[in-house]
Amino acid sequence: MPRKTKLIVTLGPATEKEETIGELLDAGANIFRLNMSHAKHEWARQMTRLIRRQSEQRNLHAAVLFDLTGPSIRTGDLDEPYELNIGDLVEFRKAGTDPSIPLSTTVNYPGMMDDVVEGRTLVVDNGTLLMEIRTKKDDRILCEVRNAGKLGSRRHINLPGTRLNLPAMTDKDRKDLALAVECDADFVAGSFVRDAAHVHELRSATDALEGTAQIIAKIEDQEAVKHIDSIIHAADGIMIARGDLGIEVDFEDLPILQRRIIKRCHELSTRVIVATQLLESMVQNPTPTRAEVTDCSNAVYEECDALMLSGETSIGKHPLRCVDALVKITRRIERSGGLGYGQKAPLLDERQKVARAAITLADSLPDSLLIVLTRRGVLANKVAMLRPRTRGFYAFTPKETVCRQLSLNRGVKAFRLPFAAGMDETIERATAFLLEHNHVRPGGPMIIVSDLLSDHIAANSILLHHA
Ligand code: PGA
Ligand code: MN
Repeated sequence: MPRKTKLIVTLGPATEKEETIGELLDAGANIFRLNMSHAKHEWARQMTRLIRRQSEQRNLHAAVLFDLTGPSIRTGDLDEPYELNIGDLVEFRKAGTDPSIPLSTTVNYPGMMDDVVEGRTLVVDNGTLLMEIRTKKDDRILCEVRNAGKLGSRRHINLPGTRLNLPAMTDKDRKDLALAVECDADFVAGSFVRDAAHVHELRSATDALEGTAQIIAKIEDQEAVKHIDSIIHAADGIMIARGDLGIEVDFEDLPILQRRIIKRCHELSTRVIVATQLLESMVQNPTPTRAEVTDCSNAVYEECDALMLSGETSIGKHPLRCVDALVKITRRIERSGGLGYGQKAPLLDERQKVARAAITLADSLPDSLLIVLTRRGVLANKVAMLRPRTRGFYAFTPKETVCRQLSLNRGVKAFRLPFAAGMDETIERATAFLLEHNHVRPGGPMIIVSDLLSDHIAANSILLHHA
């Protein structure tokens, strides 16, 4: 049984060698993520070239995902980090103002003073430092330190539960997006997406540059959770960005949110990624903790589309072992069954109904293959989101970009195939390909679902064919 859950690997100093990228592909990486919070432009260009070259050499269609930094609040530069103790008062002030107390730093978002609420928590450096907002003035806020720790330069600030009026994209994001388009990126991820308008803005900016990248919305705070349905509708994929989300919500809510978002994505036919700290201890250690194994297994059981590695592969000591660990876990858990949200999803449109009918037929015929002929990948996505149980599930498409974008869909393996003028000829080509590569035995049943029946009539078809 081939592995269904797809794997996203973040590249970084630990994995930037061409040879390593090849090894990651051999180990099972489906998508490579370039984190624009760290990546330099020339480096990103170089990585994209290496990924393309190594994939081509293996006849694979690995995708490239540019993850934009997004609007985030950061503290200013300090000569020396502050050593903070419980009860200390720290000031955060607008740039260009003078400190009013000794422990003072600027923030890069002037609107913060308007957005914050006294009494709420301010979190610095991904949860390392917790503070309570005590007083708020026009140009500064004073916070009381709740745990001892260090405050350094340019640290990330989270304001759990606070509605921020930050723009969807910064100037840096626009430059990074232009680079993504130049590199023919398959996916662009928007960070701190808070409503559907942010997704639309990213999409129109991509369209304006004539990019073909699909848009992934990273769900990182309570605002995004509040608007989850409209964000799922607007985006091509959702990333459950548990790093920031785990700070922005009460952590005990995180597993519930993860499950709820995965369920909604199944119901609305949108791919979903589970990201961050899947194998965090493997940044240092050669094996995962029991808790990490169980967390990854849970995400596979929930039948997400993809699991994402971040620091584990960008700066970790054991990037290949991490991919191996995820391959082992996904294979084992997939064999044991899943939660079945895709099977139970309500059928909202005709395409989904056709997809469901094809899956029902395929699942009822032992040893059958499910084949989708798809130009833009839309039909293949609909089929994949209903989570067919068939052993083989293949998509054929004439476009390389579509092949790569399908690398995010759970269960499907996409091949590039030029379509013939007639459907018969296209099916013959696909069958010949599958026979040649031993994906089907001669005479084996194939359920072919497509919307290519005719150039003149918009019609969907399901065919039962024998190889
Ligand atoms: P990041 O996003 O790694 O870009 O912060 C993922 C997350 O917050 O989980
Ligand atoms: Mn994040």
